[in-house]
Amino acid sequence: MSDFLDPEENKLSHTDKDMENVLRPQNFKDFSGQDSIVDNLKVFVKAAGMREESLDHVLLHGPPGLGKTSLAKIIANELNVGFRVTSGPVLEKPGDLAGLLTSIEKNDVLFIDEIHRLSSVVEEYLYSAMEDYRIDIMIDKGPAARSVQLTLEPFTLIGATTRSGLLTSPLRARFGITNHLQYYDANILSRIVKRSAGILKVEIDDDACYEIARRSRGTPRIANALLRRVRDFAQVKSDGFIRLDITKSSLRALNIDTRGLDEMDNRILTSIIDKFNGGPVGLKTIATAVGEEEGTIEEVYEPFLIMEGFIKRTPRGRETTALAYEHLGKIPGNNKQPNLF
Ligand code: ADP
Repeated sequence: MSDFLDPEENKLSHTDKDMENVLRPQNFKDFSGQDSIVDNLKVFVKAAGMREESLDHVLLHGPPGLGKTSLAKIIANELNVGFRVTSGPVLEKPGDLAGLLTSIEKNDVLFIDEIHRLSSVVEEYLYSAMEDYRIDIMIDKGPAARSVQLTLEPFTLIGATTRSGLLTSPLRARFGITNHLQYYDANILSRIVKRSAGILKVEIDDDACYEIARRSRGTPRIANALLRRVRDFAQVKSDGFIRLDITKSSLRALNIDTRGLDEMDNRILTSIIDKFNGGPVGLKTIATAVGEEEGTIEEVYEPFLIMEGFIKRTPRGRETTALAYEHLGKIPGNNKQPNLF
């Protein structure tokens, strides 16, 4: 799809990251969608506040850009406690985690992004911290080395992952609250685009909000990134007001798919159609054909393609639908390989 977002992680440049923080909702009121998750979290947060206890540990899983980090920050804000952020790959040794845990204040939130990427030693170390608020640290080296137990302040660990299938069961079992974030529908994304436009002080009409929303792969991060790019076009090529016509021409210039699919989505569909006659074909085979991990396809790409009706899951594997053929301008049965001999 776009050439300004990494299609896989929808990663952003530094300036875009700063901008993302500006647009990040800070409380439940500003967070649109995911209603049942938010309603439940409100109850748990309120109950923990009333008991003056730390909130139970929370696991948030779902594809990138759907609001896991935002929700974690909101939970800390609503609990009125400190928020510490780290990520699985950053915590290389138990010492890295110990440093963080010992500096935590009562009932603070510790957010670990990409928690599926924690090393197994660090993960094991986390178990006693999560369960009993205790950790063992080694002091001294060689024959004088001994282990000392430290008591920690009670805290809430919020783990985020795009690949819940990679979490070990002991780690998963230590989260009292588990939530799976879903893709957003275009109406809710439209609300998010409108709110972001308000913060960025750009004028936009409802049709333009909706057009950006429906081409954002169900993902607020992508919607916000598209809004910023369309704003550039509106400023330079027009009077700065974002209307439907300038939105459409900007999205065309940015190579944004009319249905919001990204490059990998389209590659998956094309492979199933061209190489496997539309399926059914197994996940492993698709993964090999497009050069992506099986789990990433299953947890990051496939749910959106299924939700939008481009592929379906059958007992014999994945199949593309008529919509996928139509979207790619292909004709069913017309993709046989030529007979070369
Ligand atoms: P994740 O951690 O799941 O990758 P983030 O929480 O970083 O996603 O969200 C990316 C951006 O999308 C945020 O900066 C925020 O501006 C926006 N966003 C995500 N979810 C929502 C939401 N429900 N309402 C409003 N904005 C949202």
